[in-house]
Amino acid sequence: RGEAPVLELASVSAAYGPFRALFDVSLTLARGEALALVGSNGAGKTTVARVVSGLVTPSAGRVLVDGADLTAARAKPYHFARAGIAHATEGRSVFATLSVEENLTLSFRRARGRGGVRGGLELAYEAFPVLGRRRKQLAGTMSGGEQRMLSMARVLVEKPKVLVADELSLGLAPKIVGELYASLARLRAEGVSLLIVEQHVGHALRLCDRVAVLGHGHVTWSGPAAEATGIVTRAFAPAG
Ligand code: ATP
Repeated sequence: RGEAPVLELASVSAAYGPFRALFDVSLTLARGEALALVGSNGAGKTTVARVVSGLVTPSAGRVLVDGADLTAARAKPYHFARAGIAHATEGRSVFATLSVEENLTLSFRRARGRGGVRGGLELAYEAFPVLGRRRKQLAGTMSGGEQRMLSMARVLVEKPKVLVADELSLGLAPKIVGELYASLARLRAEGVSLLIVEQHVGHALRLCDRVAVLGHGHVTWSGPAAEATGIVTRAFAPAG
């Protein structure tokens, strides 16, 4: 519909020292669209996620958010965050020595101002009732799955333009994975674009519109999720 993509990777290459991890990777994400990034171990999925959130600077190519070239601006990760990119990973973004409610309050105050805290807490506890029941518990003593819900609750309320979710379900019980995916679907319905890196391809394919397959740092296939099932099964060797 002629709308500029929210996120565009244009011919991105990236390396770790002498090791070249990405070759000429091009991807786009429209507003409210969900893209699953799949591929075997070491294919470069996490590296793409790091490029999108500014943690890895491409050696060639460009990263554009809403048409603005962040590569040319030599943007740091916090510039990417300010431009609307959120990176959800395993609970590493929670403050271990603060309670659940203190963690949420801090980030809602930053995102919505003092007046937005109460509404944010209501939204977060509605999406993840377990957080409401454990609001006084120190975040560092929560289980891995609970900590990931805590980071997701923050993302849910902050409403970024793009959420990069890297292996969000790794090692979690199916019920918790289900809750996390329900909250991803809710975010998407609110117009947030999703880049999903996931070993649980089934969940990712149900949620996503499009799929890109990475192999040895190259995009080897991309297209609608509905056409991806056979291709993904061949490209991807599930562990266990
Ligand atoms: P997995 O599914 O196993 O997590 P991936 O597709 O996410 O794999 P990446 O983590 O992006 O793959 O890694 C791509 C390649 O880059 C791998 O060969 C990896 O060993 C290498 N690599 C990743 N991070 C670094 C680093 N910090 N230093 C050196 N090499 C790295």
